[in-house]
Amino acid sequence: MTNTPNQLDQISGIGPQTIKKLEKINIINPSNLLFHFPSRYLDFSHITKIKDAQTDSSITVTGKVLDFKNIYTRHGKNIQKAIIQDSTGQMELLWFNQPYLSSSINIGSIISFAGTVTLYQNKKTIISPEHGQYNTGKIIAVYPETQGLGSKWFRKTIQNNIKFLVSQIEENLPKSILKEYNLHYLESALFQIHLPTNDKLLNLARLRLALDEILSLQSQSYLTKKEWLSKQPQNVLNETPKIKKQIKSLLDSLPFKLTSSQKEVWQEIKSDLLSSQKIMNRLLQGDVGSGKTIIALLAAYLTHLNNFSSLIIAPTEILARQHFQNFEKFLKPFKVPIFLLTANNKVDLKKIPHNSIIIGTHAVIFRKVELGDQVGLLVIDEQHKFGVKQRAFLNSSIKQPHTLTMTATPIPRTIYLTFLGNLELSTINALPENRKKIKTFLVPNHKKMDCYRWVENQIKTTKCQAFIVCPFIEESETLTSIKSAKKEFEFLSQSIFPNLKLALIHGKMKSEEREKVIADFQANKINILITTPIIEVGVDIPNASIIIIQSADRFGLASLHQLRGRVGRGQEQSFCYLFTESNNQKALNRLQFIQGNHNGLKIAEYDLKTRGPGEAFSIIQHGFPSLKLANLSDLKLIKLSEKILSSIIAQNPNFDLNKLIKENTNAYPLNPSVIS
Ligand code: ADP
Ligand code: MG
Repeated sequence: MTNTPNQLDQISGIGPQTIKKLEKINIINPSNLLFHFPSRYLDFSHITKIKDAQTDSSITVTGKVLDFKNIYTRHGKNIQKAIIQDSTGQMELLWFNQPYLSSSINIGSIISFAGTVTLYQNKKTIISPEHGQYNTGKIIAVYPETQGLGSKWFRKTIQNNIKFLVSQIEENLPKSILKEYNLHYLESALFQIHLPTNDKLLNLARLRLALDEILSLQSQSYLTKKEWLSKQPQNVLNETPKIKKQIKSLLDSLPFKLTSSQKEVWQEIKSDLLSSQKIMNRLLQGDVGSGKTIIALLAAYLTHLNNFSSLIIAPTEILARQHFQNFEKFLKPFKVPIFLLTANNKVDLKKIPHNSIIIGTHAVIFRKVELGDQVGLLVIDEQHKFGVKQRAFLNSSIKQPHTLTMTATPIPRTIYLTFLGNLELSTINALPENRKKIKTFLVPNHKKMDCYRWVENQIKTTKCQAFIVCPFIEESETLTSIKSAKKEFEFLSQSIFPNLKLALIHGKMKSEEREKVIADFQANKINILITTPIIEVGVDIPNASIIIIQSADRFGLASLHQLRGRVGRGQEQSFCYLFTESNNQKALNRLQFIQGNHNGLKIAEYDLKTRGPGEAFSIIQHGFPSLKLANLSDLKLIKLSEKILSSIIAQNPNFDLNKLIKENTNAYPLNPSVIS
């Protein structure tokens, strides 16, 4: 986009010391400086005579300095006081603790001052006014201050060099588009964002630059999709009449009927799988408990019937085992070779049949190579839980099979249109009918005991079971979180529930031990399962109808929604208790939101609005680009950008979209078969 020279020292006012300071905030060339946008503005464009200065208005006045004093008060405070005069009157100026001003505000000189007029001791006064040409007489930019470089420094340096800086920038949008959509030229937008003429032009400038940010992401997504579409599947699947019948028998053998929503997404996925022209790259989203697994199972069965293998990858061993059990259960009558592959469960992949279903944790990923070309389908469950490295490996190793990614974190439309347009999207938008809403309650500290007593009583009278989730401490489970879970387990078993059977699971247990605990819990030999947040995804135990989440304020809303989804899977009324010790109003608002909302998409959108994309979506957290102006919940902006991109492509098919991809977003890994 730019042909900016890399040299900051070409800029007046920048020497070696400053270069070092700028480096610390990643400003290493003139373009970075130009893209260091103001965080807000002060409107001092109203230039007035002293007589006409109204209290409470922001103004600039110019006058002769009649007096300047440095005053030390009895209370040890330091005040600077000046009097200025123009042709219409006098005015007082007041600063606190800025004795160095005496060097730039000389008695007798004529200087412009800007600020808000107040009445101080019944005299018109400006408190802490700005002064000098860079800071008065116009709308002035306030910059994020850092590392010994204040807002004033940026203001002065950028104002002094703005012509040079913008002259280095090349317009990246076609002229016809700028005209059609009435957009600012990039050059003028960059000028206006630092030195706005007025509100209206500033807003247009911000719009243009925000559009550039979204266009950059959408272009990347578009190019990735185009490349993906250019590939052809090497393992083509068919649905012969015989296979059709076999799938029907599987469907008939299930203990439930697919919901209409499940039927729809199965049709979408099936038609992708049967295409000989393109490789499936589809994201299946569906709220917790909406029944995504059975869809993956159908896809894997179709692949099996075509004599290819499927690879199903789950984020935790617990979940891989659960899938394995479910697949075995549902596919038992149909004699499908199914293998569980985890770090603890070795399978010689070279010796297994070519029509297997292999279910495992990320351990599978690293052995995918051994499977060679027999893989026809890759299913990635709860995709957002995978690390970047693993995903990169998945995409780099051997030829790309049809890929189905599943997530229970619903993707707001804006996020989809910006980042994930390279994926086809299928949505299961309704839960199976028999589900009851999970009653959710916020429990402050002083009500904890009441809650525990109620839970005990409920367990004794209805024979239901409960989860207690220990606080989320760190992103990945560490010894610290395990230690605290162990302590909590001891406390709860000895002091709170001495008459019930409790057990603990965490991620660092031997898998046989953990499996035994889960099996016991499944068999209702355990009343309460204490756990670190590892059960967040997937675990399906219908008799568990109570979940207590400790320090709920430490979790993201998507995680809370997932955790809550661990209950409400059976016929009984389920309950979710959110413990919190927080008094922070924002935190409480978030918890209240989840208390009153059960729709995953609404929750995700709320999270996006209140916390921003990085935190709200672990899904796209890694390498998330720093959007400076664009707001990712602004559907209007994102749709406009989408429209502009389509216009560009339609009007000029040879236009190089790479021109729209900005340097600072290049780091963002948009891989074809993964969400991020
Ligand atoms: P998720 O979408 O969260 O992965 P699962 O696939 O684990 O959900 O399904 C949750 C539960 O619902 C499972 O016990 C599954 O067998 C059951 N289920 C799936 N589809 C249906 C359906 N159409 N009717 C009733 N129960 C269903
Ligand atoms: Mg699932």
